[in-house]
Amino acid sequence: MSTTEQPRTTPTDGLVDLPDVPGGRIRESALIAVDARADDVVPAGDGRLVRLEAGERLRIVDLCGNQAADTLFYAADDVGSRYSAAATIRSEGNVYLRAGSTLVDQDGVALVTITGDTCGRHDTLGGACSQESNVVRYGKHTRHMHACRNTFVRVGLEHGEVLQKRDLAANVNFFMNVPLTPDGGLRFDDGISAPDRYVEVRAERPVLVLLSNCPQLNNPCNGYDPTPVRLLTWDAATAAAGDPDAPAARPGTEPATDGAGR
Ligand SMILES: [Zn+2]
Repeated sequence: MSTTEQPRTTPTDGLVDLPDVPGGRIRESALIAVDARADDVVPAGDGRLVRLEAGERLRIVDLCGNQAADTLFYAADDVGSRYSAAATIRSEGNVYLRAGSTLVDQDGVALVTITGDTCGRHDTLGGACSQESNVVRYGKHTRHMHACRNTFVRVGLEHGEVLQKRDLAANVNFFMNVPLTPDGGLRFDDGISAPDRYVEVRAERPVLVLLSNCPQLNNPCNGYDPTPVRLLTWDAATAAAGDPDAPAARPGTEPATDGAGR
């Protein structure tokens, strides 16, 4: 960006590009916590399964900063329709998620749209930590450490086995900083989030949100100190009235032809 250019602001939806964060964009939501229908704190290493009806909003607050919230999205009435990293990256034209991004399933159909984001960039590529990946990356002594994949499986099974191990796909890492390097590699870098930064999504149809608040201790994604996140949920009418200028879902993505995400 040249020095004469200004951050792009769209007056109707409040989206603001971050010139110092490649691919970054923020938007402050107008919703306030006192109007939320649910308010929950997820300890580090724990997880949640949250159902959102169409139009409802979920805000994930990085209470202490530098935390990673590993998250998956499913159509509530058919968990075979799930967040597809490949289809979303293609429809967004961006490997990072940010304010205004619409997350789509493997057929390009919208699941959720990011209506609020004060962090500005989120990882789609790093995946969830697992016992196996910990051993490969950090050594055998990490074999029995807690990992997000275990949390996904446990939380799914605790809710009537709606989601099972086979339903896990490549996930979003909210707040996590995994830059794509010029030679095509990934780096797990120190975070760009900070205390009380948040990301907020609006359900574009009934969805299940499966969240693992990452317990990782072996890379800087959590600052080597996993901390809690707060989940705030607003019903559709309250959200529409309280923040009417939120960005609309991106329209018309084409179905994936490679089965990505299944
Ligand atoms: Zn993790």
